[in-house]
Amino acid sequence: MQEIPEERDHPEEECGVFGVVAPGHEVARITFFGLHALQHRGQESAGIAVSDGQHVMVQRELGLVSSVFDEPALRSMEGGAAIGHVRYSTTGANKWDNAQPVALPRGDGLVALGHNGNLTNSDALRRKVESLGHELRATTDSELITALLSHEPGSLLDAVCNVMPLLQGAYSIVTLTEHELVAFRDPNGVRPLVIGRLEGGYVVASETCALDQVGAVLDREVNPGEAVRITANGVESRQALRPVQRALCVFEAIYFARPDSILDGQTVWENRRDMGIVLATESPVDADIVVGLPDSGTPAAIGFAQESGIPYSEAVVRNRYVGRSFIQPGQELRQLGVKLKFNPLKSIIEGKRLVVVDDSIVRGTTTRKTVDMLKEAGAAEVHLRISSPPITWPCFYGIDMADRDDLIAANMDVAAIAAHVGADSLAYLSLDGLQRAMGRPASGYCRACFTGEYPIPVPDAAGKERFEAPAGAAPSR
Ligand code: SF4
Repeated sequence: MQEIPEERDHPEEECGVFGVVAPGHEVARITFFGLHALQHRGQESAGIAVSDGQHVMVQRELGLVSSVFDEPALRSMEGGAAIGHVRYSTTGANKWDNAQPVALPRGDGLVALGHNGNLTNSDALRRKVESLGHELRATTDSELITALLSHEPGSLLDAVCNVMPLLQGAYSIVTLTEHELVAFRDPNGVRPLVIGRLEGGYVVASETCALDQVGAVLDREVNPGEAVRITANGVESRQALRPVQRALCVFEAIYFARPDSILDGQTVWENRRDMGIVLATESPVDADIVVGLPDSGTPAAIGFAQESGIPYSEAVVRNRYVGRSFIQPGQELRQLGVKLKFNPLKSIIEGKRLVVVDDSIVRGTTTRKTVDMLKEAGAAEVHLRISSPPITWPCFYGIDMADRDDLIAANMDVAAIAAHVGADSLAYLSLDGLQRAMGRPASGYCRACFTGEYPIPVPDAAGKERFEAPAGAAPSR
């Protein structure tokens, strides 16, 4: 019996952050819904910190937003400002101490912080923080940043502007004290961060879909290197660091961001459809139907179908209610062919030549299972078309991308990968094609996992093993 893939062959998501200042409104509830919209960015822990002007309250727990917070929890968190965080972590590092917002004493109160990204100089920062007499509890670089802020006197905005020059790497951060909410972004702008206007206040979020969810209107991005103090009346900006070469993660457009989010003024869904259109012009194939693997492969599949004239069809149904923390079926049920996530539509697939469009291949293992599943369901041919270039380098900026040894495209050419995954043919979108589909020059994006050209220096010692280090060792996201 075929083995049904439970996960897709993607890079793992990162984290999502949200903040709101809206006195007189239910800020914890607004944050809950903002985080709910950002759930795709991290499913392993969720947390909210609220300030009532005198105290900062923090609740965080392992699990999905909807399982961490209930009505009594939200009602107990009254205040005028809040921040929130959803987190993805590597297995083994998924422990409560690493859930965010992180909170540490600062002056007479607390500073809470939520971080999306990854620092590349965390070893040096760790030594600095320890020299300040701080004992680290978590394994995240978010705790290092919070510790640095907790030792800085003055306003939170001043503290952030003093700490930002010490940080290297990717960071989009929200931070909160009793009196201030400050958001800030690294000078390359690797991870997205946007500001929205709300009736009676302002919000800040990783993606615009979270603004839509809470009824906020997009105002602008937090600029690379900028720190903003958000109040009910407006946004006070300081350009803490001179912006350098902008390097927004191109994978946000390919896979991470929600398709209804707007990145760089463009709807992500349309970006993905255009990647499919260009892919069809670059790598056409004779086939009967175009199939998108739900959900992230769908827009590119629609674009491929549109350009090629081959009809689009759903051929795999996905159970949308299976999260990462879902109880796993165990070996016995697996052998019985329990289909948790994907179930093929045999009557659609049988005897057909399929173009199967997906957005990326990381290790190749689940891609092979997907091809097996489609062939066992009766597909006559499976032609894989990938709407991004081959991933050949690891990511050091907050994405849990495998070691180079584990990246199938770093170790095999396209023909060998096709044979390995059992596809009748395989083609990737070219780097030029990706940029054409984006309608933007390559210079504004990080594309390091395709090119090995890292926009922020990566220390020689930086490797995936550092990011999976146990408590007491090098920190990660
Ligand atoms: S290396 Fe790849 S995944 Fe990481 S930030 Fe750059 S484009 Fe994004």
